[in-house]
Amino acid sequence: MRFDIEVKPFYDETFSSWFFRTAIANGTDSKSLALAVWKQNSLWYRDLDKYIPHDLIIQLSNQTMLSYQQIENLTLSPIIKMLAPDSLANKYKWGLLLPLGQKGSIRTNGLSFCPKCLSEEIPYIKKEWKTAWCVSCSAHDVQLVTTCEKCDHIFSPHTLSFEQTEIYRCANCDYDLRNSKLKQANKNATKLQSRLSKLAFENKKQISFPLHFKNKQDLFLSLNIFISFIAHIYHKDKYRTLLEELHIATIHKFTKSNNSTFCRYNIIDRGYLLSCAYEIFQYDTETLISLLQKYNVSKKILRRTYKTVSPTITYILSKLDDSKIRKPPRTVKKTITPKSKKEVEALFDKIRTAL
Ligand SMILES: [Zn+2]
Ligand SMILES: [Zn+2]
Repeated sequence: MRFDIEVKPFYDETFSSWFFRTAIANGTDSKSLALAVWKQNSLWYRDLDKYIPHDLIIQLSNQTMLSYQQIENLTLSPIIKMLAPDSLANKYKWGLLLPLGQKGSIRTNGLSFCPKCLSEEIPYIKKEWKTAWCVSCSAHDVQLVTTCEKCDHIFSPHTLSFEQTEIYRCANCDYDLRNSKLKQANKNATKLQSRLSKLAFENKKQISFPLHFKNKQDLFLSLNIFISFIAHIYHKDKYRTLLEELHIATIHKFTKSNNSTFCRYNIIDRGYLLSCAYEIFQYDTETLISLLQKYNVSKKILRRTYKTVSPTITYILSKLDDSKIRKPPRTVKKTITPKSKKEVEALFDKIRTAL
């Protein structure tokens, strides 16, 4: 079988977006097309934008003009391979992508979109919108949106049926997402995002931050660890002056997040945390270390729960002290209680013998 109508993917388009457009062009929907291609119904609910197993790409490439490589390039797989640390047992567990849809009872971010991009002549989903560091649209300078403003459902174009042929409509209530209210994006977050995306998607090699990073893997893992560190110390009074010195204003109110992993924060919190990371990246490594030392940041506080640490974080950790604050030795206090009449008389008897 070959698709009757072939749709050419955009260079920055996600796999599911191209697959959706192909399905609609061929008079069906993504779920039915997935069933026709792979003979499996449940596949469509997997996060195919992240990774498609080898044999499934082969089966698909037999039915379209796209080559194996072109199909794989529609997924985030090449980026994950390049940016996730080699020491990770499973690179696909790299934590800088937005988790899709629902996990048990936890409602997750899913996918972001730019209302203006969805208003273009041929609207499609961009790969960058799947990453946790992408909080604004670089073309339109507006904050990305993650939910339908009418029904609050997460943006889920992968669940659109053949009756809903427009990618810009909410899969739940049919609201036209192009009308979503436009908000200004956080400036420093946008600056950092644009540099990160260039390194990830445009294969830019040069890392130009005052803070030193060995390579791209180092940078992205360090980013995740710094963000977790900031989120952890943010509400602690003893680090308030450190945050001030880092030019981080503690005026942001975080919405409750599921487990405080960067990719599970909402888009406003992610934007704020990115702007904090942007400030940290403005320090050269030695100045940052002396600041952390000045405020007694311990290895444990910086490292948090990360099993894998980046070269930059490893270097900083080697300069931090981890001596536990010594508690003063416990002194056993004697309580003085009045003596009984009998005891006092006994004492006097003793004294009298000495007189
Ligand atoms: Zn846009
Ligand atoms: Zn809706």
